[in-house]
This record gives sequence, structure tokens and C-alpha cells, in this order.
Amino acid sequence: MKTQSINILGSTGSIGTQTLEVCRERGIKVNGISANSNIDLLERQAREFKVKFCHINNKELLSELKIRLKDTSVTVTGGEDGLCDFAVSGDADTLLTSVVGSVGLAPTVAGIKNKMKIALANKETLVAAGELVTAYKEKYGGEIIPVDSEHGAIFQALMGNDIKKVRRLILTASGGPFFGRNKAELKNVTKKDALKHPNWEMGAKITIDSATLMNKGFEVIEARWLFGITDIDVVVHRESVVHSMVEYEDRSVIAQMGVPSMKLPIQFALTYPEREESTVEPLDFKKYPRLTFYEPDLETFGCLRLALESMKKGGTMPLCLNAANEVAVEYFLKEKIGFTDIERTVEEMLTRHKSLTGLSLEDTLRLDRELKEETKKYLEELS
Ligand code: MG
Repeated sequence: MKTQSINILGSTGSIGTQTLEVCRERGIKVNGISANSNIDLLERQAREFKVKFCHINNKELLSELKIRLKDTSVTVTGGEDGLCDFAVSGDADTLLTSVVGSVGLAPTVAGIKNKMKIALANKETLVAAGELVTAYKEKYGGEIIPVDSEHGAIFQALMGNDIKKVRRLILTASGGPFFGRNKAELKNVTKKDALKHPNWEMGAKITIDSATLMNKGFEVIEARWLFGITDIDVVVHRESVVHSMVEYEDRSVIAQMGVPSMKLPIQFALTYPEREESTVEPLDFKKYPRLTFYEPDLETFGCLRLALESMKKGGTMPLCLNAANEVAVEYFLKEKIGFTDIERTVEEMLTRHKSLTGLSLEDTLRLDRELKEETKKYLEELS
């Protein structure tokens, strides 16, 4: 069903602002927006889109936001504990989740329970609790449409085909800024080096995840839960033009292509099942005389290997993978640890973790907090 009215979790980030561009261009009503702390942009967005609900996670900024929007009729709320209520506020039929990390889990479940279409841009939710979220989705008969470019591609390549005839999914990876380097060369790369992505402009956390290839590992797990398929291969494709592929039993491979722009999967998630006019630049094949494909280097980019192993082991291993990674990336961005320490930390936490199964949402959220605390403790002792 095409989106009529939307609530956006994370409206001031890269995906959030591009989603608002699509809403502006396609005339989609924006019911509610939320952000962590970018109060200036949040206020501007609230005014431009005449939203009904506006939420700020950082509670210290709540009174300031209320004062700023005093002359409007916007309902202003704050605090991470209010995110679930915000997610389902008003008459929005779609919830776009573009927050970073497992903080997206509870509001996503709230949206599913409220029978909203979930436009999922928060992959950590499916990594941390894919089985649980899928169970909720089935119970409430909901719809999760991927906003990630790879999953948007697979979603499109599956349309009109029998999913039982799929042989494997092929996820493409840009390879990140450190493609072609070996492990020793990665030891001294800086935050600045890691934040320079060749093809995509994204938030800091996902850019680091792309540099370690953890992002691709997360995406394999995300694909496994979105499509219910476990045969998934990763190929490094430097040009980011083939967004991903599906191979069928007859060996036909269907790819979805386009310029590297997140507006493409965002718009399709909102207008699906319809296709509408877009301002995205058309793909000019002559600009890409060579499309390349390589085997990923699991030796150098151990985070991808760890993610694939966690998925195979199942249970709460992917939850641990994500929790340890979230904390390690935070420490790397604060320049408290080195680049290769991210992988080392995740591997150490996975080795310590005893996997559990069948956890409730509350138990999952509690374990997520515990694992993050434990990772912090490990990193504090290290430094
Ligand atoms: Mg992606």
C-alpha cells in the first residue's frame, strides 16, 4: 500500500533528510518527526512539513524545543523512553525507522503491533532480534519494506517471481575505503580515513561499519530475516551500480541497477507497489564502461567473517555481534581505540557470549544493555 502519511524516526540524519525530500517531491504527508539532538534542523522540518508530532530523544533539549514550537500546534515530546509512543502517534500509516543501532528495536515492534507499514532503514533491529521481529510481523500481518539499497534491490528482483525458486541472493558490497589493503595496513588508519566512503554519503556509524565490512555482514543477516533465505553470497562491486541480485533455479540472475542514491530505495519503499517519477539522476551506462566483481577478503575484514559466523550459530550471537560493534564503533569515533580494535573487541565478546534462544522483547532489550555494558568494561580495562 502506498504511503499516505508517515512518521520518521531519525528525520535529521542522512536517510531522514532524503526521506523528507521524497515526501516533499511526492506530496506525502509527514505526520511526525524525531531526532536525537539536532534541534535547529528538527524545528525547521517541523515548520516546513507542518507536522503534528515532534520528538527529541535528548531530554535536556525538550523544554527548548517546546519553547521554539510554542507558536504552533505541534505536540512536542522527548526522551528515549517516549520513542515507542511517538512511533505510533497520530494517523500515520507508515513508520520509517532510520535511527542508528538497536534503539530502533522497540519502536519497530510498536509500529508492527499498530499495523503500520515499516520502511526499515535501521538494519540493527533485524540483526539484534530478527527472529523476534519476524514473529511479530507474522502475528500482526504487517509489512516490512526495506530501505537499504541492497535489500530494496532484492525486493524488486523478487517481484513477480516464485520465492521458492530462488537459488541464492547475491549482495553487492562497495568494499569501502580500504578495499585492497591487508590487515597490517589497516592497523594505523585514522577516523578521518575511515569516514571517507568512495560512493555513498551516510552517517558516521554506518560509514565505519562500511569500512570494516561489518555493514555487509549486518546486511546478510538482515536479508536472511527479510526474505527467509539463508543462501546468501557477497561480492565486492566497486562501482555500486548493481545494487544486488537474485539467482533463480534456472540460473537466471536478476539484478536491480541505478546510480548510488538512497532516494531510489526510499521512494520505492514509500510508493510501492507503484512506481512514480523521481528526481534521481538516470543511470548513464557510458559513465561505467567497466563493472567489476571480486571475492570479499574475509581475512582482512574479519568483521564480515564474524557476522557470517554469528548468523550460522544463531540464537543471541547476532545480538552480541551488534551490541559489541555499536560500543566499539562509538569508542573508535571518540578516538579511544584503533580501527582493528573494533574487530578484536567484537571477536572477544562473541567468544565470551553464551547464546540463548526464545527471548522475549523485554529480555532481548535487557541482554542488549548488559552486552553493551560488558563491552564498555572490556574496552575501559584495555585502555
Ligand atoms: Mg546498504
